Amino acid sequence: MASQPPSMTGIQTRPWLDPDATPHIRVQGVRKMFDDFAAVDGIDLSIYRGELFSLLGASGCGKTTLLRMLAGFETPTVGKILIDGADVSLVPPYQRPVNMMFQSYALFPHMTVEENVAFGLRQDGVPKAERDKRVSEALELVQMSAFRKRKPHQMSGGQRQRVALARTIVKRPKVLLLDEPLSALDKKLREQSQFELVNIQEKVGITFVMVTHDQEEAMSMSSRIAVMDKGRIIQVGTPNEIYEFPNSRYVADFIGSVNLFEGRLVLDERDHCVIDSDEAGCSFHVGHGVSGTEGMVLWVALRPEKIRMTTQNGPLGTNEMDGIITEIAYLGDISIYHVRVTGGKTVKVTLPNLSRGAAREFTWEDHVRLCWAPDAGVVLQQ
Ligand code: ATP
Repeated sequence: MASQPPSMTGIQTRPWLDPDATPHIRVQGVRKMFDDFAAVDGIDLSIYRGELFSLLGASGCGKTTLLRMLAGFETPTVGKILIDGADVSLVPPYQRPVNMMFQSYALFPHMTVEENVAFGLRQDGVPKAERDKRVSEALELVQMSAFRKRKPHQMSGGQRQRVALARTIVKRPKVLLLDEPLSALDKKLREQSQFELVNIQEKVGITFVMVTHDQEEAMSMSSRIAVMDKGRIIQVGTPNEIYEFPNSRYVADFIGSVNLFEGRLVLDERDHCVIDSDEAGCSFHVGHGVSGTEGMVLWVALRPEKIRMTTQNGPLGTNEMDGIITEIAYLGDISIYHVRVTGGKTVKVTLPNLSRGAAREFTWEDHVRLCWAPDAGVVLQQ
């Protein structure tokens, strides 16, 4: 979803690559202390107009606190928040060009859909004709026009979520903050809503900043993701960068499934290097240099889908490990194999189930050989 062609709103799709682009939101050296605990611990971040930017991290990493500071519900202890170049750090929520969609959707139960959506406009004193027009447009956008006379309890979770979205969009904020917007939905509806939310965001062109702890959701929806841990940002990148080029074991492990092998650098040339790993029971031949010192401890991160598995003899390539299959999990589209390799480590391998009803190529206790390309693994120094 996120890797779509340029949006119809005319917004530049990768502004973070343009050194002359001006960030829409700038977070500068922000810390937030609760007594002597730093919930957000020195964050610098630039978010560009029209992005769908996700703050992703485990529970308690500080993502909601950062979002609440963007909204104005919390004040930074140190640092500044700028929107469109103006320092809003001390500006109250209702005077900021932002709107927030809460996890609970917080719809008024006694009001109909259209009354809920119109509420903020009514408070702002928007004249009735203008209000009606904007409410109709917003309901049309989220495809809820037919439900305008219903009350929240007469709708499904997904429908309530769309009304909540209409209620925030109708005020035409420059920035929309979303706190776990899809968490109340079941898996199927969630997947469908991810598409809808991205489409709506593209249509309205508002900058979205979303908090989520669901890595799949962040991967499938975001222009970029900031991975957070203990109040800090560990890496910012596109979903592809975060997945294929994690900067640390933390990110590699947090996003998707990964095999991490500890080893020592034994050869480092400009165009390749070799890392010996006792726990893998093999040497990793990597297709680039790492500019490290020989003997230093490194880690190789190898995704399960990047590994080929065979029971056949014969040459396989430069990278090879031997092992025995100890576990198999059949997930329908793929199967996950656990292979105990000679070094003692258990390695995860995923293989697509390409044909229906075919006999399994591999089974428990099979002696297998694993191989992977020199550019399949990522070398990590931390
Ligand atoms: P979750 O996914 O569970 O919502 P989160 O990443 O959004 O987690 P935050 O809600 O930002 O985490 O909280 C970060 C840390 O700050 C947590 O340890 C939390 O207990 C603490 N914290 C948050 N708000 C307060 C507060 N008002 N007073 C004291 N501590 C707080």
